[in-house]
Order: sequence, then C-alpha cells, then structure tokens
Amino acid sequence: MTILLTYDLGGTSLRCGLYSTSELQLLIRQVYPTPNCQRSGARQTVLRDQLIDAMLDAALALIAQSEHRPEAVVAGVPGPVNVEGFLLEAPTILGEQLSGPFPFKARLSAAVGLPTTVMNDITAAGYRYVCDGQEDFCLVSIGSGIGAKIFFNSVPVLGVSFDTGELGHVKWSSLPDAPICDCGEIGHIGAYASGRGVANFLVQAQANKDPLGFAVSRLAGTAIHTMDIAQAFVKGDPWTTNCVATSLIPLAAGLAATRSIVGMERYIVIGGFAFAVGTPYTSLLARKCNEHYNWPGWNTAFEMGYADDDNGLVGAGRYGEDRGKA
Ligand SMILES: [Zn+2]
Repeated sequence: MTILLTYDLGGTSLRCGLYSTSELQLLIRQVYPTPNCQRSGARQTVLRDQLIDAMLDAALALIAQSEHRPEAVVAGVPGPVNVEGFLLEAPTILGEQLSGPFPFKARLSAAVGLPTTVMNDITAAGYRYVCDGQEDFCLVSIGSGIGAKIFFNSVPVLGVSFDTGELGHVKWSSLPDAPICDCGEIGHIGAYASGRGVANFLVQAQANKDPLGFAVSRLAGTAIHTMDIAQAFVKGDPWTTNCVATSLIPLAAGLAATRSIVGMERYIVIGGFAFAVGTPYTSLLARKCNEHYNWPGWNTAFEMGYADDDNGLVGAGRYGEDRGKA
C-alpha cells in the first residue's frame, strides 16, 4: 500500500491528509488554520516560513496519530505554480504581490524529507473529477477567493505561464469605490464574489446605502460574517438574496465568457462559500450567466461538487495514484 501525504492549502484553512493509493481514499485528515496575512502581521518572508512550519507540524501530527508513513507528497496551493514547483502568487495567504517566485516544492520537500509535487489547488481538486470520468469541465471554486480551471480531455489547461484559472483576479471595475482584492488591486471579480468579498464589501456597502432594509433583514444583529450571510441567503432573506445576486454578477460575466470563447458546457462548483449557499446560489448564477451570454443550456450547466471539504486532498491523492508516484 502506498501512502501519500496530501495537502490542500487554502486562504483560511490548511487541510492535510494521508491518502491510500490502494484503498483510493483518505485514511485520516485534519484541518488547521492557515497562517495568512489577515491573521498575522508578519512580513511576507516570515509568513512563508510559518506556512512551511505549519505544513510540517500538520504532517507530523497525522503520522503520529495514524502510524502510517507516507512515501511522497502532493500539495495543492492557492495560486499559480510553475513546472519547477515555484509559487508565483498567493494573495489569499500572502497578500499583495510576491517579492519573487517562492520555491514551494523545494522548501516543502526539504521540510518533510519526501519527494514532493506542488500544483495549483484548483488543478489538484479537478483531478478528483477527472478520475470520476469527467473529461471536459470548468471547476469553479468559490471560497476565500475565486478560481476557475478548465479541463479538456481530462487535462487541465495551464497555459505557457502556468497562471490560468485566476478568474478572481480579473478586473471588473476601476471606479474609486470599487472593493480592494486580497492581491491589493482594485475591483477584481474575487473582491465581489468570493466569500470574503461578499462579507467585507458588498453586504457592508449595501447596509450603508440601505440601513432601513438592512435593519429588517436576517443579517441585522449578526457579525455579518460569511457564514451569517450564507445562512440568511439559504433561509430566503430577500435583502441578503439581493446582495448575493449583485455579488455574483462579475463572476457570471467571467463564466459566460468561457462558454462564449471555448464552448464550455459543464461547470462543477466547489468551495466553502458555494457549499454553504448551495443550489439556490448556482440557480441564481445560471440566470446571471444567461443575462451575460444567452444559451439555453445554462439551466443544467452547473452542478455542485462533492461537499465533503476533501476535494483538494482527494484530488491530490488521485493525481499521485494515477501517476504511480507523486
Ligand atoms: Zn486580485
């Protein structure tokens, strides 16, 4: 039995698991807080060290708990990764532009002492669906940030610069009151439509514009955290629904462009915010996509992925299993 140490590093949570390539499943998993720029005032270089330390600590805890010894590592990280395993950007963790490419693969491999593969987190998650038999699809992640990775013929489209899938960092507005993205730029799609974007900008801005409407909404009296918003949305609160519908307009425009340009017809939706708001959200998203690009198939184009929070961990494991090594 080959055991892989798999990571799904998110902006908010660091997931770590041991995956069995013979049993085709995770044997054990744990979730830890990600050391990120919002939680820590540390400089980028210090934060990067904290990140690698946290990943090592997570692995040691899992190994001690399970007594399984992994033979290789596959890690998904939230940003573009080149073929040498350098992380090029990671705004949901490290904030504004990196001072230079970060040798993530070399650093993680040195820390854990195992052969290591590092890839973009959405790419890793996509391999779960590839191994299910999906061939042509766009994996859309709506969590702390927004990602959208296209797979054709079961292969991720990475581009010559390995930086595809960063739909959240496409500019939607240059107006002075547009929200600031985690990456430091103004008006990016992720600043509107991500879980953080909805909570930090849209709901706050709407509450300031319409205090009376906010006062009678389900959000009044809450801390307006992302999950408060998701709960109010799921319960059908009209004021919150209106905010969420506004927040996803930029995302719908971006996805409509993928349908228009490359003929994408299947969109698999994952991510903490997406799972919290569920199919009422994807129905709304489909309607908004149709407003941007008229296509009768939008009604059935969206499906929710596995809502078990393991997409990245299992996808990384399936990638390693598929190749017989990491
Ligand atoms: Zn951005």
